[in-house]
Amino acid sequence: MIPVLIVLNAGSSSLKFQVYDMVDGAEPRLVWKGLYEGLGGAARFAVKDKGGAILEEKTWDAGDETGHEAALMHLVAWLSQFREERKPVAIGHRVVHGGEAFSVPVLVDESVLQRLEALVPLAPLHQPHNLEPIRIVRRRLPGMPQVACFDTAFHQTQSDIATLFALPREMRERGVRRYGFHGLSYDYVASVLKDYDPQLAKGRVIVAHLGNGASLCALKDGVSTATTMGFSALDGLPMGTRCGAVDAGVIFFMLREMRLSPEEAESVLYKKSGLLGVSGISNDMRVLRSKAAGDPNARRAIDLFVYRITREIGSLVAALGGLDGLVFTAGIGENDVATRAEVIGGLAWAGLTLDEAANRSGGPRISAGSGPTAWVVPTNEELVIARQTRSVLGATQTKLAS
Ligand code: ADP
Repeated sequence: MIPVLIVLNAGSSSLKFQVYDMVDGAEPRLVWKGLYEGLGGAARFAVKDKGGAILEEKTWDAGDETGHEAALMHLVAWLSQFREERKPVAIGHRVVHGGEAFSVPVLVDESVLQRLEALVPLAPLHQPHNLEPIRIVRRRLPGMPQVACFDTAFHQTQSDIATLFALPREMRERGVRRYGFHGLSYDYVASVLKDYDPQLAKGRVIVAHLGNGASLCALKDGVSTATTMGFSALDGLPMGTRCGAVDAGVIFFMLREMRLSPEEAESVLYKKSGLLGVSGISNDMRVLRSKAAGDPNARRAIDLFVYRITREIGSLVAALGGLDGLVFTAGIGENDVATRAEVIGGLAWAGLTLDEAANRSGGPRISAGSGPTAWVVPTNEELVIARQTRSVLGATQTKLAS
């Protein structure tokens, strides 16, 4: 019987999962991955093996019961067909916000869950969805160990100054500070960088996580020293539908002059801005690239995205006191040859030179010359959750045994 970990990443209408074998001493090994999407309506389930071959699919009608609870119980039932071979022993969850208190992953009990729920105001659009499956599992599978793994935790190494806003001191005391996100992705990249270039892993590296959400992280010897995201997941780079950094005065204009409610303003900044808002076409880089030659609005959205990335890289180079390497990761960073070329093209001043052929073939090294190097490193946030879950479980078992 192989003990397995379930990794869950819950969104407002989706639940992504991965199942890992836990073999003593070895890296957790992916067995199945899948998702539920369209939850609350006409939902769809698909599960693949580790090679990406579809094993099973199912769709539900709009009138069916398809919330997160139904999805989770469907997953448990699906897994039970393998009960002779594999036994789920814990669930690891992606939780966007760990606040100031949680700088490492944590085994969830009622008091931890309440403290995580108290952080909902810091990430109102993500945290409630991340916590919902934890509540459901506590009710439906009591006794199943659950570990919360945070997107903020990796950045807790940053200095006081790097995390401080120039706001009145009482606000800092209320937790208004830079936290930073995408930490599970940066944790993964930092953990594998030595396999690409051992010297670089000890150096000054900027990682560009460019997906639907996008941010940059400055690593020194594998440790986060600065990042573009701040108090919320809105700050920094423009994203698929999020605005990135805007002058805070814009929000007063939206409230007073445009007479938007706080909820409407929030929805504009989170859901109607970024690549989608500027192009008026799509939040999807593939769609924008396919239209960029003939549609000035698609081109403009891409140009702004690239301009903001290069500007923010300049800021992080200053924070690091120089640059040894730049790493691209996540959907756009791993796949969009043109974005990588355009960003590197804007960094000639920092000594970066593109290797065009290597960039076209996906790297891993995509720079030429003797300056800072550039790389493509596929991220793996779920593996980090599996690693962290196993390590928390191991620590708990050791504590119980002693
Ligand atoms: P999420 O933040 O939702 O995990 P992803 O990391 O999957 O997002 O990134 C989604 C983005 O990656 C989308 O803008 C998508 O267009 C882009 N992307 C995925 N594949 C490609 C590709 N082959 N070329 C260009 N962009 C791509």
